[in-house]
Amino acid sequence: MNIECPQCGSTEFKKLSLVYAEGLSDLNACSRGWGLLVGGGGADLGFGKVRTKGQIQTKLSQKISPPRKWSYWKILVGGLIGMLVLEFILGYVDTFLRTGGNFNQQLARFGYAWLGIVAVILCLAARHNLGLYPRRYRMWNRSFMCRSCGHIVQLNRSSDPRGQALVREVRS
Ligand SMILES: [Zn+2]
Repeated sequence: MNIECPQCGSTEFKKLSLVYAEGLSDLNACSRGWGLLVGGGGADLGFGKVRTKGQIQTKLSQKISPPRKWSYWKILVGGLIGMLVLEFILGYVDTFLRTGGNFNQQLARFGYAWLGIVAVILCLAARHNLGLYPRRYRMWNRSFMCRSCGHIVQLNRSSDPRGQALVREVRS
């Protein structure tokens, strides 16, 4: 009736999204505790302790965090800033080297090429957000973590009755 952990044989699992949410609140509590410990005089010990805990948390969070959508805005803004910086550098180089009269034409060509690259990245982002992302998110939402060893398993169907039973069992 229960799913067994392929690594340690335990039958106790916890939904990955719950583990993730709890990890986030742990992290907040952690940073609050840091201030108290520094104020209490045990700064070194407290700092070292909390830092270690924070690093472990970060590793775990990376392992169990939900997939993210790619941000179109970040790509656009990053592309724009990149283009301005590169054109500035090219303009700077041109002023010193005096490469010739058709610099503006070269700059325009460079600008078009750059826009083409940004457009390709935007297309990749759209493919990721519309295709891969929902599939990965569904997979993440159906993932469970073994309570004994941290091994992560995925259920094949969200309507799997075993999966539903497991969720109830863990929450109670
Ligand atoms: Zn296990």
